[in-house]
Amino acid sequence: MPRRPRNCVVVIGSSNTDMILRVRRVPRPGETLLGGEFSTAPGGKGANQAVAAARAGGRVALVARLGRDGLGDAALAGFRKERMDVSRVLRDGARPSGVALIFVGADGENSIGVAGGANQRLSPRDVAAARRLIGRARIVLLQLETPLETVKAAARLARRAGADVILNPAPALPLPDALLRQVSLLTPNETEASLLTGVRVTGAPSAARAARILLARGVRTVIVTLGAKGALVATRDGTRVVPGFRVKAVDTTAAGDVFNGALAVRLAESRPLLEAVRFAHAAAAISVTRPGAQPSIPTRREINALLRK
Ligand code: ADP
Repeated sequence: MPRRPRNCVVVIGSSNTDMILRVRRVPRPGETLLGGEFSTAPGGKGANQAVAAARAGGRVALVARLGRDGLGDAALAGFRKERMDVSRVLRDGARPSGVALIFVGADGENSIGVAGGANQRLSPRDVAAARRLIGRARIVLLQLETPLETVKAAARLARRAGADVILNPAPALPLPDALLRQVSLLTPNETEASLLTGVRVTGAPSAARAARILLARGVRTVIVTLGAKGALVATRDGTRVVPGFRVKAVDTTAAGDVFNGALAVRLAESRPLLEAVRFAHAAAAISVTRPGAQPSIPTRREINALLRK
């Protein structure tokens, strides 16, 4: 058996740069609106979750593809600052780094377009080339912003290597049972749980119905996140709601990403499931009290301080 240090998490997924334009209101087709304010921020579900795991105290490696461009250089420098293993962050000469163009109106309404770019070229071969890293992982954390073939290959390889797979099925896609059977822990939000099961999920009772369908399709554990209401945790032994932390939310962008990254770390540390969920709730709750995605992600020390309260 390969040596498997505690808290070792491999995240396989996307990295984007969010290009945010704050305007009075989201422009209509054909319209030009002056007077906006521009900012950029690192994003992408894979990168967000990896940063969340690293700040939560995990030993994190990221498997991803960036373009050979300035945005890619900046993203890579950011990952290094978080002390991640970036040995399998690949540079792609054929496609640019992933970008999300985001209009945000004064009332918080938004409109987003995403160009996956190099993320769309993260391949099953890239996953196979990361075999050594995956062999050392306790947890392999996946999302759906890279090609589904790559997600499937990653789940298969992770299971074969003896790691547990957490799949955050976002953005939502219909998923084959063969993939769900490789997943130890599936973490949809209400929208994603609805799309995966056809059950309209709006709160704990409907989340429990959706979760039972997913368990029957082969997932070992389902956690449906319920925003401010916390999360529904379902295993074959039963379901229960784990309430979240009551905070004043200012920006819930990436709440789910922070939840997943923190959850992965606590499970990699071999903590019981419900304790890991509470830890993840604390991390996500702190992140929603601050603006932005990656800048809002808390450290282990901040998470522990909220848990002690
Ligand atoms: P997503 O961000 O993927 O839509 P959710 O909205 O379900 O996912 O949120 C994920 C987690 O983030 C929740 O389970 C909870 O821990 C935390 N969270 C989200 N919104 C709030 C909030 N308003 N107050 C406290 N915690 C929140």
